[in-house]
Amino acid sequence: MHEVGIMQSALDAIRQQAVNHNATRVSRIVLRIGTLAGVDQEALRFAYEALTPGSLADGAVLEIETVPARAYCASCRTEFGAGRGFIFECPQCHAFSGEIRAGRELGIARLEFP
Ligand SMILES: [Zn+2]
Repeated sequence: MHEVGIMQSALDAIRQQAVNHNATRVSRIVLRIGTLAGVDQEALRFAYEALTPGSLADGAVLEIETVPARAYCASCRTEFGAGRGFIFECPQCHAFSGEIRAGRELGIARLEFP
């Protein structure tokens, strides 16, 4: 379950941000995760519950913003919504594209300190 490692590095980054804001606690954590990032959100929430007690994020609200996958079609120069996978079919001209424009995001969107 690599979500534990992801959450650990997120908490390290949050700790650093808290230091920068002279905060000892964080009250809200908003993560931005693309549907192609390869992250299981349920597993991530589970890792969050397991890792935060006693940490500066103890009791903080965890929000996850999902970024839908979008691919770009070079043939008709449009972006279109993509499902899971690596190659996507353009809905307009039916060309295949592997050029992903969105959906691989994995990071901290916002933090709130009390
Ligand atoms: Zn196209």
